[in-house]
Parts: sequence; structure tokens; C-alpha cells
Amino acid sequence: MKSKSLILGCAVACSVGSVSAYGRPYSDNSDMSPYQACQAQIQVEVTFCETNVGGGRHKREGETSSGGQSGGEGGNKTSEGGQNGQNSGQGQGQSQGMSGGQQQNNTQVANGGRGGKGGRGGGNTCDCLNPNSIATLAGCLQAAGKTSRKYTMGLVQGCKRSQIDVPEDWFDDAIKRFNANAKSAAEIPHFQRSKAINVPFILNSSNTTLYQESYKRFYANYNGSLYYGAGILAYWFLVLLLGAVSYWSKILFPGFTKKMTNPVVNMWRKHVTVPAAFGRKKTQEQPLFKVFDFLIPSRSESIIIALFYGVVLLTHALCSTAVENDPRFGGSKYKAEIRYVADRSGITATMFMPLVFLFAGRNNFLQWATGWDFSTFMAFHRHTSRAMFMLVVIHAVCFTIALGSRYSNSVKRWYFIWGIVATVAGGIIMVQGMLFLRRRWYEIFLLIHIAMAVLWVVGTWYHVKDLGYIQLVYPTVAIWGVDRVVRILRLFYFGFPRSDVYLLADETLKVVVPKPKSWKSIPGGHAFIHFLKPTYFWQSHPFTFTDSVEEESCIVLYCKVKGGITHSLYKQLCAAPDRACKMRVAVEGPYGESTPAKYADTAVFIAGGNGIPGIYSEVFDIAKRSGHHHQNDRQQSLKLIWVVREWRSLYWFYQELLSLKSTNIETTIYVTQASSRTLMEDFNSKFAGSARISEDLGEKSESVEEVTKLEESSCDEKSATSSLVSSVKKELNHIEFREGRPDISTIVPEAIHESHGSVAFVTCGHSAMVDQIRYYCAENVDNEERKRVDFYEQVQVWA
Ligand SMILES: Cc1cc2nc3c(=O)[nH]c(=O)nc-3n(C[C@H](O)[C@H](O)[C@H](O)COP(=O)(O)OP(=O)(O)OC[C@H]3O[C@@H](n4cnc5c(N)ncnc54)[C@H](O)[C@@H]3O)c2cc1C
Repeated sequence: MKSKSLILGCAVACSVGSVSAYGRPYSDNSDMSPYQACQAQIQVEVTFCETNVGGGRHKREGETSSGGQSGGEGGNKTSEGGQNGQNSGQGQGQSQGMSGGQQQNNTQVANGGRGGKGGRGGGNTCDCLNPNSIATLAGCLQAAGKTSRKYTMGLVQGCKRSQIDVPEDWFDDAIKRFNANAKSAAEIPHFQRSKAINVPFILNSSNTTLYQESYKRFYANYNGSLYYGAGILAYWFLVLLLGAVSYWSKILFPGFTKKMTNPVVNMWRKHVTVPAAFGRKKTQEQPLFKVFDFLIPSRSESIIIALFYGVVLLTHALCSTAVENDPRFGGSKYKAEIRYVADRSGITATMFMPLVFLFAGRNNFLQWATGWDFSTFMAFHRHTSRAMFMLVVIHAVCFTIALGSRYSNSVKRWYFIWGIVATVAGGIIMVQGMLFLRRRWYEIFLLIHIAMAVLWVVGTWYHVKDLGYIQLVYPTVAIWGVDRVVRILRLFYFGFPRSDVYLLADETLKVVVPKPKSWKSIPGGHAFIHFLKPTYFWQSHPFTFTDSVEEESCIVLYCKVKGGITHSLYKQLCAAPDRACKMRVAVEGPYGESTPAKYADTAVFIAGGNGIPGIYSEVFDIAKRSGHHHQNDRQQSLKLIWVVREWRSLYWFYQELLSLKSTNIETTIYVTQASSRTLMEDFNSKFAGSARISEDLGEKSESVEEVTKLEESSCDEKSATSSLVSSVKKELNHIEFREGRPDISTIVPEAIHESHGSVAFVTCGHSAMVDQIRYYCAENVDNEERKRVDFYEQVQVWA
């Protein structure tokens, strides 16, 4: 009994299309499809062995008396997408044979006796051993024009799985037998579909065409899906390649790039690559009933994303038409097409899954290749993952429809359950990833996001493992694994130094971290910092860093106090003596890239509030490298504009402002609320060492410190502030101070006009200001002087 079941199991595998090296139905290479189509047609049109021949009709696990159904749902416990899909298709195919009215006389067998191939018991032995059955197969292949070895090997391979050896040259003898003896239904007296015949049978030729086409399309869809998935990847490859060419040409051929100001290029840049998608809305959050608030990617990012959706749609629309009365799907074209979409959406979604993970990784080599920042890749991550999830939902819905009444059986299988787990995890990610939630509870968002992403990958792994697509999951695991390993290596490379943490004015934390000598800073780059306290050591937060101007081999991070970890530190520092403490930290970085502004003839750096550190470190680095630091007369012009709210906002960055004295960076500071007089205390603490600076400058006049003390005692706040301001101005006399808001609409064209060549604007700060600068840069791309204008945004918004 055991061996019979074994043979039956093999027979199922053989008959319904076994699993290839990749686990997919082996016929998906399309060489097996003519053989399978012929076998399916033979089963519907003729009987060569009575069902009790060859050991009688065997019942398989789960098999009922209804062959069509049991064939689909029965004993074979492997893949739904491949084998079970075939089973069901087979069963349906036979039913269609009847329902289409083409095989009226086959009703009994189709409905009960044979069902899916798996239900035929000794039938498979019959396929492999009965000479008339084999001759009929040869005749069918001949009628289909598929007589070459690759097609005839179908029988050999199929029967091998039933442990029956069929000689590889079986076709020659079989076709001779067919040509000599074959008879059609009309030629056989009292022909009945259910009665075994002992001559080769001439199959209905129009059915042969239909079966062949049906099977061909079904299997072509498997292979085609791989190509369509590859097409989606190719789209991204092309986009990234163009991005890389554009980025590297600015670096390798800056002279050439500067000359790219002809009307066509300008038009393209003005309307496509530089502006926000709509008006001035790029980094600003867009409101939509509060909970659906969203960010709009830049216009070029939006176009890339829109085209991506277009490519996904196209790849699911092309070549997905089934034949009318598709015999493989119970005569239903609709069911066939549903199944095509189910298969294709599952395969393509799995194929571009690695991209979704690569785009979200911190160590994404594409950032280096294209110069696009993390937030751009995060925009791509969000949209590729949405598309992937939508495809998976389509896959699930279509399979649910395709399975019909067999769903309840299928849902008990592990691979199916894992598919559901992955889909549910994906659904949770879609909801918890909303901007509204991640803005408010970023850490909770991140934890759930990672946990669900793990479930997604594990679920997908087990779902596709036996379906033959496990190779498509490996790259995802590799990408994610490598990113995590590199992150850990980066942390250990930096070490876990004790850093000095201070609470400054403007609710800003200053973190001074000693760095290893070999750790190279990236001007304008950022690092993720862990504060190693039991309650939050596991959190890592990104902050832009600068090299310290006070302590060698240290980096400095300026962190605005917000509501999470920065607030916890704030509370701790408020209670600490001198509002300072020592704390062990872990630093992961550096990340990010400097902008190509260093290649422009004029580089204008504009920072707002806390956006200054990255802007400063980049402009300072350019000045140092290009020799401005030593006051030589190189032609490049560097401008720095910093917009702050109050005078006291300068304090926390005072040393860096002083350091600008040794450069010829033209610095302008706008103080928007210049009349505000607050926090003399902060002023005092900050300027404790400024007397020394005044001495260094050889100035006899009062230092800021002296003025502070003097004015404090006078209790006249207003005059104290103005004296202090004048001292600050004196000390920072290399900087021009203006009161009020900067007028971006004039700053941009003026800078372009004053430049002797190309101009690059780099900005970081309040999102409205950044969006405004982007807008005016786009407006001025086609300036009359035909000067090249570039815009770079250091602001990174991904949460
Ligand atoms: C590339 C980059 C550079 C940055 N540089 C600076 C800087 O130099 N100075 C500065 O003050 N701020 C900087 N930020 C912002 C800074 O990361 C957040 O203010 C900080 O993480 C808030 O921590 P929190 O727990 O106190 O904030 P919460 O009150 O929990 O959150 C406040 C805001 O910060 C966002 N946020 C929280 N955690 C993260 C995270 N791990 N990654 C990304 N966003 C997060 C939240 O979505 C929310 O919008 C930078 C952000 C990025 C992406």
C-alpha cells in the first residue's frame, strides 16, 4: 500500500507538472507545455486503460469521488502556485472539455473518474506503458508541430517520476504506430469516452490548438513574469544610471556642466529637475485631515515614481490575455486571466523586494553612486513598498478567486499561512508608516516597522520556498543583513567614547565627541548617535556634525531639543551643575555626501536656525581646501547666509562664527527678531571666554564679558542688549549683520548676477525657507546671463 501511495505521489508530481530545480513546475520552461497540453487533452477525449486497470482507482489523501476537485486539492502537499495550480487547472481543463460541448461523451470520466491528473490512479502508469496512449501522445505532438527532442523528453521525464523508464527515442516507434493505426472517434464503432480503446486515437484537432495555446500561455506567464520583474528592475537601473551620470559629470567634468545652459537643458532643469512638484511644496508637510498629512517628493522624484507605477501597470497588462474557453481553467478565460495576474503580481513583487530594502538601508551604495540623499531614497522606498504591497494584495485576492471552493483546504497549508502572515505584516506597515504616526511616535513606528518587515521577509521566504522562487528572496536578506553588519562595524570602529554634553541657549544641546584619528568626517554629513543610558541606548538619532574648532579630533553635534530623547537629555542637563555632563555615546557614521557646490564659481550657503552646522562645515571645508583659508586670490566666491531669530541664537555657534574670520567667506547673518531681549544669563555663560578673544584681537575696547557685567548692573535691559549687540558686531566684524527677514526673491537673482560664472545654492533650515530657495533657483535657471544655477538641499526629511 505504501509503495502504491508512493507511486501515486510521483504520478501526481509527474502528471501535474513537477517541480524543477527551482521548484517551479518544470514545464514553465515551456518545453514541457506541449506534452502536458497533449496529456490533458488525451485525458478528456479518450480512455486507454479502465480505471481499475493497473491496480484500480486509488484514492489519494483528501481525494473525494469528484475527480475534478480532488485532483486539485488532493494529496500532493507541495506548491500551490505550481503543482496544485496545475492540479486544479487540470481538473478544470477537463471540465471545460465538457462544458465547452466539445467532448460530450466524456462527461462521466471528467466529472468523476479522472478529475485532476492526480486523481487518475493507474492512469499515469497507463500514460507511460500503454502503447496506444503513447502513440496518441506522439500524434498530438505531431499535430502541434512539437516533435523535437526537447518536447518529446516530456514523457521520459514525466514517467521517470513514476519510476517508469521510457526510452528517449520513444517517439519514432510511437508515431509509426499512430500513423499506421490511429482512428478518430467517428471511426471507432460505439465509441464511448469512458470505455477503453485499443488503438491510437486521433484527437480533435481544434482542441489540440486550444489546449496547446492554453498551456503555452499559462507557462509563458511564469517565465514572462520573471522578464517583467526584470523590466521593473531595469527601469530603476536606468533611472539610477542617469542619476549617476548627472552627478558624476558635475564632479568629473565641472567645466562642461557649467556650460550646460542651452535653452533645452534650461527648460528641462527649470521645469523638471530643480523645482518642487507643485509651487513651493517639497520639504513642508502637506495637511490632509491631519491623519493623512503627507510629503510631496520633488518634481523629478515624483516623475520617477509616477513612471515606476506606470511600468508596474504596464508589466501587468502586457501579454495577460488568455484564450477563449481556456481548457486549463474550466473553459473560463476570466479565471485564466485572474490566475495570470495572480502569478505575475506575486513574482514581480518578490523580484523588486530587494530594491525596497536597499532604498531604506543606511549603507545604500546607490547614495554614493548618484549623490542622492537618504530622504530621496526614502521617498523611493515608500513608493516601491506601496507598489509591492499592492501587488501582493492583488496576488492574494486573485488567488482567492482562482481557488474558489478549494480555498478552505489550501489555507491550511504552511506556505499559504506564511503568505497570509507576510500580507498582514505588510498591511500593518502601510498603516503605521503614515507620516502622522511616524512624526509623533517615531521610535514606536520604527520598532513596529522593523518587526513587521522581519515578518514580511520570513513570511515571503516560507511562502515561496517550495514554489521555486526562493532565490528571489536571497538578495533581500543579503542587502538587509549587510546593512546591519556594516552598521555594527561602524559603531565598533568609532568606539564608545565619553562625550561632553552641554545645554546651550535656544534649547540646543551641544555634544562634543572625541573621534578616532582615522575616522574621516564628511563636510555636511551626518551621523547616528546612541546615548548609552539604560533607558534609551537602543535609539539612534541622526545629527549633522562639524569638526570641532575648539578641540582637535572631536566632532560636535548641535541637537535642538524636541520631545523624545533630546527632551530626556534636556531634563537631565537642567538638573546638572553647569548644565553639562559627561556621557558615553556610540556613533554610527559618517553618512551623507558633500554637495558638488565646491565646483561652482560662486557657492551660496543659506542656513536657517539649527540648520547651520552642516552648512558651516561644508562651506568651511571648501574655503580650507581652496585656499581661502589662507586668503589667496582664487576666483571662487563663497557666501554664507545664516538666518536666526534672536541675537542670543548666535551664542551656541559663536566659536564657529569666530573661526570664519580666517577665511574670506562672505558671511551675512539675518536676525529676524532683533528687538527681542532675553536671557542675559545665557549670554553671560556663553561669553565667559570672550575677553580672551578680544585680547587676541588686540582690542582695548570692552569685551563682551565686560559689557555684559556692566550692563547687567545698570538693570537697563534694553541698553544692555544694544551694547552687547554692538560688542558682538565688533567681535564678529568679518560678518555683516542685518535685521529682519531675508528676501529670498532678491537674494537669489542678486547672487547670480554678482557671480562671474556658475552659482550653486546649498540650503538647510526651516522647510518653508528651503522650499522658497528651491523655488527661486528654479525660476532663475534660465537667467538672461546664461549662468548655470544649481540647487542642493541639505535638509533631509524622512520622518
Ligand atoms: C540627516 C539628518 C540630520 C539632522 N541633523 C540635525 C541637527 O544637526 N540638529 C538637530 O537638532 N536635528 C537634526 N536632525 C533632526 C533630528 O534627528 C531629530 O530632531 C531628532 O532625532 C529628534 O529626536 P527626539 O527623540 O528628541 O525627537 P522626537 O520628539 O521623538 O521627534 C521629533 C521629530 O524628529 C523626528 N525623528 C525622531 N527620531 C528620528 C530618527 N531616528 N530619524 C529621523 N527622524 C527622527 C520625528 O519624526 C519627529 O518629526 C537631523 C535629521 C536628519 C534626518
